[in-house]
Amino acid sequence: MTERRDDDCLFCTIIAGEVPTTIVRETAGTVAFRDISPQAPEHVLVVPRAHYPDVGALAAADGDLLVELIRAAHQVAVDRGVEESGWRLVFNTGPDAGQVVFHAHAHVIGGAPLGRIG
Ligand code: 5GP
Ligand code: ZN
Repeated sequence: MTERRDDDCLFCTIIAGEVPTTIVRETAGTVAFRDISPQAPEHVLVVPRAHYPDVGALAAADGDLLVELIRAAHQVAVDRGVEESGWRLVFNTGPDAGQVVFHAHAHVIGGAPLGRIG
């Protein structure tokens, strides 16, 4: 599907349709699917089809794709009905942030009051 694929990457296999997943939105450059272990009533992951290990690498390599991803995340929030009540966009990046899948992804989280961060 994409010229940037890592065969050892879980999200690359999901994007290729090789792992059962509930996809909620697709754009030319991104795929959004439900997190397997939701942390809130609405918890969707938005990923670029192209493999980059984290959001910093994506930002450095393809800013247009990062914008497409954030727009897709916003549309997911609208579609899931949480735009008005509020939602959070999270990019866990690196060990201290607890990143476990090293394919850039945004968490769209909402549907209930979220603990304050920052
Ligand atoms: P990270 O900590 O890397 O930002 O989060 C990775 C996310 O991927 C976690 O929230 C985890 O629940 C989710 N995840 C891990 N494996 C799978 C899977 O096979 N399918 C789906 N849909 N989500 C997954
Ligand atoms: Zn990947």
